[in-house]
Amino acid sequence: MPKVAIHTLGCKVNQYETQRMAEALRASGYDVVDFADSADVYIINSCSVTHTADSKSRQAVRTVARRHPGACVVLTGCYAETSPNEASEIEGVSLVLGNRHKDAIVEYIGRLLPSKVSKTDMAASVSRTASARTRALVKIQDGCDQFCSYCIVPFARPMMWCKPANEVVDEVTQLADRGFKEIVLTGIRLGRYEYGGTNLVGLLQSLVKVSGIERIRLSSIEMTDVPAGLLEIMASEKKICRHLHVPLQSGNDGVLKRMNRPYTAEEFERFVEEARLRVSDIAITTDIMVGFPGETIEEFEETYCLAERLEFSRAHIFRFSPRQGTAASMMPDDVSPVEKKRRSELLIGLAKAHSEKFAKRFIGKTLAVLVEGNKESKLRSGFTDNYIKVVFKNGPKCEAGEIVLVRIADVKENQVFGEIITSNA
Ligand code: SF4
Repeated sequence: MPKVAIHTLGCKVNQYETQRMAEALRASGYDVVDFADSADVYIINSCSVTHTADSKSRQAVRTVARRHPGACVVLTGCYAETSPNEASEIEGVSLVLGNRHKDAIVEYIGRLLPSKVSKTDMAASVSRTASARTRALVKIQDGCDQFCSYCIVPFARPMMWCKPANEVVDEVTQLADRGFKEIVLTGIRLGRYEYGGTNLVGLLQSLVKVSGIERIRLSSIEMTDVPAGLLEIMASEKKICRHLHVPLQSGNDGVLKRMNRPYTAEEFERFVEEARLRVSDIAITTDIMVGFPGETIEEFEETYCLAERLEFSRAHIFRFSPRQGTAASMMPDDVSPVEKKRRSELLIGLAKAHSEKFAKRFIGKTLAVLVEGNKESKLRSGFTDNYIKVVFKNGPKCEAGEIVLVRIADVKENQVFGEIITSNA
């Protein structure tokens, strides 16, 4: 049975597409193995969101080609889509496939590998995928047409697309049958989901009825895309995780305008306040970019002050780096690397303090945690619905995929510790 290993860089949409490629390969009889194992084909599902992501994608190809000189190396994902010529020149790459070809991965790999797979191999492979799991990604939307001036995504994923609602429900039902308890709905513009009159709220109303699924989480959503009724359904439906990841990027209106972000800092602040008012204990997480072209000290300070007021429960801080072909790449990259580092470190420090403060609110309270990791791990852990990672203090008496009640005991150095109160294991 030919072996295939996949390495994923980047966002949840890419992770979902890896999951789908792995499923398609298994269903066609391939053995999908760990990336550290020996395989006949290695797939790098690349990312191109920053310069670092590009270079990590190239590095992953070179490393795997050097370690496994006899294997085929397939490079797909956003880096392959946006820089196909550069990608095909990387030493050791056998095939470069843009995002739109991921659905046909089985055919492409079939052409690369001469040997066919027997039906017995196929049956063994498919049955292995039916074990209990924890969290599965479900892509419901793809594509972006916003063209934020720093972002490469609209070039890598230009087609706006939504999955039919009945197909989403079928997919989630199948995942529930396979033992998944939590699904994460993903999309580049998740809030823009709309198919045949069903928007994201309508879709959630159908998905909460799928038995076996206990949690539905949303991946990143643009504040301006949040549909009417989303906060209400989050507040009223227990299955919908109280967590919104809304990218802020900057707290200064001038920078937001230069970024082509369609909101003001004040609108963003009002939205966060409203979400907290309507959904108790909601986790609001975000992305912030520092060092955008022309970002002055004063403009950065406005971002810092807004982040200070909004107390995000997690924040990813990025330093601007120009992506070729984007509008911002034509602007002077005039904030020095040292200054970008200083600004990012200030925000990272603030974000850490806020995430600790958020978790500390729950000390002494009991929360439901979905257990992750394998039995052998010494310290088991899992996530609450409002995205607090909890490490269990009282031993591994629980199974991955199980939802346990945990009393939050302590928060130390950004680690949250809890004691399991109930477990079926
Ligand atoms: Fe990129 Fe902006 Fe689209 Fe998000 S909304 S994918 S940042 S262009």
